Amino acid sequence: MAWDFETDPGYQELLDWADAFVRDEVEPLDLVLGDPYDKADPRFKALVRPLQERVRERGLWACHLGPDLGGQGYGQVRLALLNEILGRSRWAPSVFGCQAPDSGNAEIIAHFGTPVQKERYLAPLLAGEISSSYSMTEPHAGADPTLFTTRAERDGDGWVLNGEKWFSSNARHAAFVIVMAVSNPDVSAYQGMSMFLVPAGTPGLEIVRNVGVGGEREGSHGYLRYTDVRVPADALLGEEGGAFAIAQTRLGGGRIHHAMRTIAQVRKAFDMMCERAVSRETRFGPLAKLQMTQEKIADSWIEIEQFRLLVLRTAWLIDKHGDYRKVRKDIAAVKAAMPRVLHDVVQRAMHLHGALGVSNEMPFAAMMMGAQALAIADGPTEVHKITVARQILRGHEPVEGLWPSAHLPTRRAAARERYAAALEHVMGNE
Ligand SMILES: Cc1cc2nc3c(=O)[nH]c(=O)nc-3n(C[C@H](O)[C@H](O)[C@H](O)COP(=O)(O)OP(=O)(O)OC[C@H]3O[C@@H](n4cnc5c(N)ncnc54)[C@H](O)[C@@H]3O)c2cc1C
Repeated sequence: MAWDFETDPGYQELLDWADAFVRDEVEPLDLVLGDPYDKADPRFKALVRPLQERVRERGLWACHLGPDLGGQGYGQVRLALLNEILGRSRWAPSVFGCQAPDSGNAEIIAHFGTPVQKERYLAPLLAGEISSSYSMTEPHAGADPTLFTTRAERDGDGWVLNGEKWFSSNARHAAFVIVMAVSNPDVSAYQGMSMFLVPAGTPGLEIVRNVGVGGEREGSHGYLRYTDVRVPADALLGEEGGAFAIAQTRLGGGRIHHAMRTIAQVRKAFDMMCERAVSRETRFGPLAKLQMTQEKIADSWIEIEQFRLLVLRTAWLIDKHGDYRKVRKDIAAVKAAMPRVLHDVVQRAMHLHGALGVSNEMPFAAMMMGAQALAIADGPTEVHKITVARQILRGHEPVEGLWPSAHLPTRRAAARERYAAALEHVMGNE
């Protein structure tokens, strides 16, 4: 049976366990703990390590990875079903060993790293002992990496990096950063950029400041400056000039995993909206009795279910092809749909909560900002829509002649000609 929307009972049991565990043990952490990437925080060891052990015992640790890397090898569809639980909580991905951007960074080191790089960076990353950062966007250019100017120049056996990077998330707690730099300005950007692994504390690597999103008082997105940062030859990740292929591998996974977690966020907003609808009384009865409230609920449910199906089908396609790049159009479509569904559902839920909804006593403002950030991070919506449209249009040919192929008079004439003999015969017999 090719079409099946049910989860097998064994895995469903694990999901039910994860659902209760996240609700009872992990979601409360969001209210008392700080930054999940700060592994040096003593509260992390005391509160989070024991929970991570319980996740390992259940066989749900690092589900985004194959068994060769200490993961479960469940594939993307099962990961999606788990992530739509984990996405409810800021801390859950860390407790389950699959937090971004470490998950994506681990994936590219696993794919492209040397044995030494894997031992030094990947092993502690997978064990959840360190955090990492991905340093690609520059202050003057993000959506178009061909405009990047950060330089990597050969110096004896090693390399020297110079330039600035912007929004390198969690750089302040990262044990290393993965930097994309121009290693050969004489060829096209697609062949002239390389990735480097730079340990924190390397002389010349400076955090100019940590930038916050929206009203955040404490920012976590590093504005980084690289001034004569010297790294040895073995800091090169993958091949020289291979940065674009590595970035595609990393960002493909990152985008679909964000989408899986976004389902959790949208459902959370939806549940709050429904609770409000049946709780808040007007003189006509509860809000839920009003048709415009019902329309909000119906529209939201339909949009969530549509989005979820798109995400699950894309996850299934990735499992089928085993390569993010072969599913580029679908991942781009998910990426473009994701901020809109989150924005629209959160906006309705926020609105139904009245003044309380826009206040700092509910999570809606942060969720709205989250939707805006999702429309930008990993590339703006427009760029992903362009990818979708270009890939679709590749399968279409221009029509020959003046009229479109669906032009009714032309089609009617062709159909009459095709059936002329048969029609004449029938008419002649009447
Ligand atoms: C929360 C968050 C976390 C992030 N984390 C990281 C990280 O860890 N590492 C990292 O390297 N980067 C990170 N980024 C940066 C992110 O990848 C860039 O912001 C993104 O690629 C857009 O680049 P930009 O901000 O320079 O916008 P610009 O490139 O200046 O684009 C601005 C706007 O111009 C329009 N536009 C741009 N290009 C096109 C086009 N081709 N067609 C149509 N319209 C276009 C769009 O409306 C777009 O939103 C993060 C961003 C956010 C918001």
